[in-house]
Amino acid sequence: MTLEVFPEGAPVSVQTTEPLGKPLDYLAPPGGVQVGALVEVPLGPRRVLGVVWGPGDGRFDRARLRAVARVLSAEPLNPVMRDFLVRAADYTLTPMPAMLRLGLRAPGLGDPPALRRVYRPGRGEPGRMTDARAKVMAVVEEYGGAAFTLGELAGLAGVTTGVVKGLAAAGALVEEDAPKDTPFPRLWPDRPGKDLAPDQAAAADRLRAAVRSGDYGTTLLKGVTGSGKTEVYLEAVAECLSAGRQALVLLPEIALTAEFLARVDERFGARPGEWHSGITQTERRRLWKMAGEGGVQLVVGARSALFLPFRDLGLIVVDEEHDTSYKQEDGVLYNARDMAVLRASMEGAQVVLSSATPCLETWANAEAGKYARIDLTSRFGVAELPELRAVDMREETLPANRWIGTALANGIRERMAAGEQSLIFLNRRGYAPVTICRACGHQVGCDQCDARMVEHRFLKRLVCHQCGETKPMPVACPSCKVEGKMAPVGPGVERLAEEVADRFPGARVAVLSSDLFGTARALKAKIEEIAGGGADIIIGTQLVAKGHNFPLLTLVGVIDADLGLQGSDLRAAERTFQLMRQVSGRAGRGERRGVALLQTYQPDHAVIRAILSGEEEAFWRAEAGARRAAGVPPYGRMAGIVLSSPDVAQVFDFGADLARLRGPLEAVGAELYGPAPAPIARVRGRHRVRLLIKAAKGVALQPAIAAWLAQVKVPANLRLSVDIDPQSFY
Ligand code: ADP
Ligand code: ZN
Repeated sequence: MTLEVFPEGAPVSVQTTEPLGKPLDYLAPPGGVQVGALVEVPLGPRRVLGVVWGPGDGRFDRARLRAVARVLSAEPLNPVMRDFLVRAADYTLTPMPAMLRLGLRAPGLGDPPALRRVYRPGRGEPGRMTDARAKVMAVVEEYGGAAFTLGELAGLAGVTTGVVKGLAAAGALVEEDAPKDTPFPRLWPDRPGKDLAPDQAAAADRLRAAVRSGDYGTTLLKGVTGSGKTEVYLEAVAECLSAGRQALVLLPEIALTAEFLARVDERFGARPGEWHSGITQTERRRLWKMAGEGGVQLVVGARSALFLPFRDLGLIVVDEEHDTSYKQEDGVLYNARDMAVLRASMEGAQVVLSSATPCLETWANAEAGKYARIDLTSRFGVAELPELRAVDMREETLPANRWIGTALANGIRERMAAGEQSLIFLNRRGYAPVTICRACGHQVGCDQCDARMVEHRFLKRLVCHQCGETKPMPVACPSCKVEGKMAPVGPGVERLAEEVADRFPGARVAVLSSDLFGTARALKAKIEEIAGGGADIIIGTQLVAKGHNFPLLTLVGVIDADLGLQGSDLRAAERTFQLMRQVSGRAGRGERRGVALLQTYQPDHAVIRAILSGEEEAFWRAEAGARRAAGVPPYGRMAGIVLSSPDVAQVFDFGADLARLRGPLEAVGAELYGPAPAPIARVRGRHRVRLLIKAAKGVALQPAIAAWLAQVKVPANLRLSVDIDPQSFY
C-alpha cells in the first residue's frame, strides 16, 4: 500500500466530527500529514477532532487557510475503514460527522500516550532475602523479565505491595514508566479445541475453508440452542487468527460476554479484547488503538464494535443474529447485522450469522443463494429439544388475578418434587401494565408521553417505559379525585411473583427482569446462582430468552403466547415465532428432556400452530409468501421518517410540506404514506409524526430520499430522523 503523504503547507481536506456537513480545507502541518491521520484542527476559537480525508479542494484561497494544529499519535484510519464509514453513512443516510463520531468513539484519542508505573528486573541485589522477596523474584524470573504493574506483581507473588517497593528501593527491581495502551495477550489458535461431533466437524470444515479463501462470503449457521454453534464458529475464529487476520464476535447482550470470554480463554489460552458499555474509558481507548495497530487478534463486543478501525479484519460472527438489539434505535440508526455484511464485503472477510431462529431477511438471503447455509440439526450430546404443547386457556376458569393455568401449575409442582427448575415467561416488566381508577375508569398515563404508566411495586413507583419518568402511585384518582380506588390491571413479572408465592409456598423464586438489576455484574451473578440450582421457579422477561444456560431447567411455561401477535407490526408473527422457540429452547439443556407449555387463547392461530408443529421451514415459507404478496421487506424496501417537535402544529405542517414535495420519491416509483400521528404520538413532551416510504426491491431508495429531503430546511426545534429498513414502528 502506498502512503499518501501531504507535505507541509499542502492543502488537505479534513472531515471533522462537528455537525458542519462538508469536509473543510486546512494546510498540512510541519512534518506533513498522512491521509487518514487523526488530527486536531482549529474551528473558530476551538480545536476539534477530525480525519485527513484527502487533498484539499483547491478552490479556497490558500493564504486564508489555517494549518492543522496537531497530528495525533494514533494509527491513521486505513482506506477500507474510511470507505466503510462513507458507505455506511450513505446507506443509513447519516451525516458524515455523526458517522465519524461512531468510528472515533474512544475517549482521549488526542491525549499524549498515557503512562503507567511498571516494575522490571534491576541489576542490584535484593539485600536481605526473605520468603516474600524470594517469591517476587521467582515470578520475575518465570516471566523472563516482563514488566508488571505493582498490583499485578504483588498479586502473582502473593505478597503485599510493600515487598515489591522494598525490592525496588534495594535496586533488585527497576521502577519506570511504560505506555499504557499495550497489545493484548496473544491467543493461540493452534491449541486443540473440543472433539467435534460429525455434523459439527463438517460445519467447521466448511467455515474454515471459507475463511482460508480470503474472500468475502456470508454463511447462515443455523442450529437449535445447544447444538454447538459456538464451538463451530470458534473453529472459524481459529482459522482466521492462524492466517494472521483479526476476528470480531458480536453478542447481543453484555450479560453473555463473561461466559464467552471464559470459553475463549479455555480455547485459545488468553482473553480477547472486550468492547461494550461496561468497560472503562482506558480499556476502550486501548482497544480502539490496538484494533488499528493489530495489537488485538479477537474482539468480543456489542454492535458498535463494528466501527472499530481494524487493521485487517478477516471474520465477523454475529451471534443470535435475529436479536433486535442489533438494531441501533437512536442516534445513528443502523442494523449491525447488515453493516457487518457491508464491512466484510469491503474487507474480503467472512461473516457467520449464527442463530436458532434467523430473521426472515437472512433466511430469504440463504434461500436466494446469496448466503451459504449450514444446519446443525441435533443438540450436542444427550440434550434433546423440548416437547411443545399449547394450553387452551379458553377452557380454563382462572380466578381473578391468576394467570398460571392448571396444566402449568401441575407441571411446576412435579418439577419441584423432582428437584428441577421451572421457568415462567412473561414479556412484561413491572407489576401491572395498567393502573385504572375503579370509580371513573381513568388510566394513569405519563405526563410527557402518550403512554400508560406501568406500576413497579419493587420500586414503589409508576414508570413510563417510553421516557423513564416515574411518579408515586396516586392515592386519589388524578381525574375524579376519588380516593382508594386505584387498581392494577393485568400481570407483569412482579405480580406473577406474588401468585407464585401464594400458590407454591416454600418455592425459591427468582425474578429476572432487566430493571431489577443495577449492573451487568449483579445480573450475571444472579444468572450464575440460578444455573447452579439457586431457584426452583424462575420468572422472566425476554431477558431469559437470550442464550443463558440453565441445566436444571426442564419446564418452560409461557403465560401469554398471544401477546406478541397483537398490534400491526409487520414482524409480529416472525418475532413471536422466534421468541417462543428461543424461550422453549431454555428447557431441557441438561440430561432430561424439557417441556414447554404455551398458554394461548387462540391455539388455532397459524403462528401458534407453526410453533407447535416444529415445521420451521414451512413457517418461513408461509411468512415469506405473505411478505412477498404485500411487497414488504425483505421483498420490498421501506424507510420510516419520524418528525418530532414540542409544537404540534409545526410538526404536522412540516410533515404536510414533505408530502407535497414527494416528487423525487415518485420519480423512482416509491410511495409515500402519511404524515400520520406516530403510534406513540408523544414522547418526552415532543409530538411525533410519521411518514412511511415503500418501494420495490431494486430501487435506489437512499439517493431519492436524500434529494427529497434536500428540498426543505428543518426548523431548529424540529427533529427529523430517517430509518432505513425500520424494525420497530413506534
Ligand atoms: P449453541 O451455541 O448452539 O447454543 P454451544 O456451542 O454453546 O451451543 O454448545 C452447547 C453446550 O454443549 C456447551 O456447553 C458446549 O460447551 C457443549 N459442547 C458443544 N459441542 C461440544 C463438543 N464437541 N464437545 C464437548 N462439548 C461440547
Ligand atoms: Zn413518558
